[in-house]
This record gives sequence, C-alpha cells and structure tokens, in this order.
Amino acid sequence: MASEGYVINAFGKKGAGAAFEQFQILRGQSGPDDVEFDIHFCGISQWDVQFCNDDLGNTNFPIVPGREMAGVVRWVGSNVQEYKLGDRVGVGTVVDSCMACDQCNANKEHACKKGFTMAFNEPTKHGHISTDSGYTYGGFSQRISVHQNFVIKIPDNFPLEAAAACLTTGTSCYAPLKKFGALTKPKRVCILGMGNMGMIGIRIANVMGNEVTAMSVHENKESLAFELGAQFFLSWAKAEDMKQAYRRYDIILNTLSGPHEVGTFLPMLDHNGTIVQLGLMINPHNLIQYPDLVRPCLAVAGHIAGNIVDTRETMEFCAGKNLKPIQTIVLADQLDDVFEVLANPATTIARYTLDCKKSFSKLMEDESGEVVIEKSEESENDAPDFEDVVDAGDDEGLGGGGGEGGEGGEAPPPDEAEGGADEEPPPPEEEMPPEEEEEPQ
Ligand SMILES: [Zn+2]
Repeated sequence: MASEGYVINAFGKKGAGAAFEQFQILRGQSGPDDVEFDIHFCGISQWDVQFCNDDLGNTNFPIVPGREMAGVVRWVGSNVQEYKLGDRVGVGTVVDSCMACDQCNANKEHACKKGFTMAFNEPTKHGHISTDSGYTYGGFSQRISVHQNFVIKIPDNFPLEAAAACLTTGTSCYAPLKKFGALTKPKRVCILGMGNMGMIGIRIANVMGNEVTAMSVHENKESLAFELGAQFFLSWAKAEDMKQAYRRYDIILNTLSGPHEVGTFLPMLDHNGTIVQLGLMINPHNLIQYPDLVRPCLAVAGHIAGNIVDTRETMEFCAGKNLKPIQTIVLADQLDDVFEVLANPATTIARYTLDCKKSFSKLMEDESGEVVIEKSEESENDAPDFEDVVDAGDDEGLGGGGGEGGEGGEAPPPDEAEGGADEEPPPPEEEMPPEEEEEPQ
C-alpha cells in the first residue's frame, strides 16, 4: 500500500447498496517510467455497475469504478520518451502486469501469466502502481499514473470523450474480430446483444467490411441497428429468425452478460465457426459437446478487452474512420440515475460517459461552500444535460446501449423469455431453443 503519493478526489461507493459519493484517495508516487495524466472523461460500462453492486461477491469497498480513462498528460518520468506534457492519452482495462512473463514479452499483457491488473478493484500486486488501499482505483477520479507501457495515445483529431469508448469497449470488439480474421477478409458476423458493446461491435464489424447481423430481442433497436451498419436484424426469441440464422455465421460476438446458454447459439455458426463470449457472466453453461460442438467443428472462445497493441490499433482505427460513439455525457451527480438505468434490462438505448473534469470542477467546494474551480482551461467538450440523450443523427456514431462487457445482464429464465416475448420458442427441429433476454451492458 502506498503511504506516499498524491491525494485526489474520486467518486465511488462504500458499499453495494450505497449511493455514489465523493471522497479522497491516494495514488502512489509516480516513478521514472510513469505517465501521470488528468482524467477528463471516463466511459461507464456494465462492468462498473456489476462490480459496484458486488454481483460477483468480490468487490473491495470503497470502490472507484471506471475502465475507460481519457485525458491530458501533466507529468512524465525521466525514462519516458514517447509522451510529453499536454499529450492526449488514455488507459483502459489493463493498467499493470508482471512485464516479465512470456505473454507480457509478446505484448499480450492482458494474458499475463501472473494475471494482469484491472483498472479498479484489483490488488496492486505487480508494484508498478499503488494506492492507499492496496487495490486499484478506476477512472471516476481526477488523475492517474500508469507505467508508460499501458498508455494509449489519442490522435489529435479525435475527441477525448469519443476516444474513451475505444479503450475497453471498442477494443473488446476489435481485438476478437481481428483475431478470428474479420479484419483482413470479410466474414459473416453476428453481434449478439445490443447494449453498449453490441452497438460498438456492429459499427466496427461493419466498417471492417463484414456482413453484419445484429441480434436482439428488443425490436425498438432494429432501426438503430441498421443505422449503425448492420445489414440484418434478428431476434433469438423468434423461431422464424432463428431458422434464418441457422449455420449462417463465421463469427458471433456474444455481448450478453446475463445468464444464458451458449449452446442456444451454436447452431447459428457455420462449420468451423467461433462464438466469442465477452460478457461478465458467472453462471455455468450446459454445453452439449456431441453433436452440437463436435460435428460442425465449432469453437467457443472468451475474450477480455485487448492487449496494448490491439488497443492502440483500435484507437487509430476508430479515429481514422471517425467512429464516435452515440452517447450521453453526464456529470457525477447523475451517476446514481445512470447506474440504475444500466442495471435494468436494456430496452433503452444508452451509452454514458462521465465528464470527470467538469464534475470535479463543479463539485469541489471549499469549506465556506463556495465552488472552487481548480483550473480555468475549458473542457473541449461541453456536456449536454442529462436529458439531451444521444448525438442522434450522428450516423458516424458507434453505439448506445448499456454497459460494456456485453450487453445482456440478467436474462429471464429460458422458458419465460423476456417480457413475454411474443414469440414461441423452439425453432427448427432440435436446432435452436430461443433464449432469454438481453440487457444493458
Ligand atoms: Zn506477465
């Protein structure tokens, strides 16, 4: 645990049922290889919600969430050559690793043999980062220091609040699409679930040149799916749609984060196809190996965020294509409302990003109750009011929808597919039992 360093303000929770509050945290002294930057924006994801609610039962309180931090460099260590004061940078899910194992040496920090360190809630065991609690604090805070290996440069022409989405949500889609060949040769891609990650996945898969099907049980998302670049829209709650999806895809990005059976979707994969599980889903799957998995030679893969190379590529790719997320910029006093929206099934279309700079400027009060504005420089992006949802009409937008590990969330039990999904379940023969509902992410 750090005893020396710098004290900053943060927004977080002190218990699973608690409201957001502002408190101070200490981050350890920056070292010669560190880049210290002011956080201007931080994306809000489904994982933030799930960890704050202690859904996995392993949350260390107080927690400061946030895995998509974008800002401006205020200090660099003596060994840092690549970054300088004033540079626009960010950091995503991976903030530290052992930097010595074969995976780290192969630039696959997110696969570190000793376990990478996530931006929040994880022990600072590798020692390149430290805090007063011994656990990492995320981006709902004023400033962070990370080893230069984990810093992502943000292109000059790309707004910081748009760049935040690339740091975790974007790379979580970009990296597996690249890994399974969709970046270099057009594939038939299905994006399962249309929360925050699903929306962005549709856009990225489309711009890569793939044939894209968006799949959601929420029909109100159909028009947006087409806007984002999907060529087809199907619902897994409709038997007719599932027939159409039979053996149709090379890759499925499954962004559902609520309970579901991966086996439900296997018949949608063509021979040698791969389904990539992205969501924070802790329930076991009841997978039927033969014939479901074996005969069509399918692969079930998992993926989290991306390594630093992939994250940097994602940033360049999105900036180069001007892919900006459809999102609402919010201030810290709106966090409780936002988290409530994201905790409920995503019939709404929403992605949120916290304007950290403006939040701390507005909320920092001195003892006399007067607002103290720390710095005068104006945030380059004016945050709209909470009601001003989306940059609607921005057809370059990436996506909306809930959090981010995957859309999904708690899906209703299999036999009561959401909201009484109009449609009857079982589709073709033994093929594919429709499944529950999706959620925000
Ligand atoms: Zn390692």
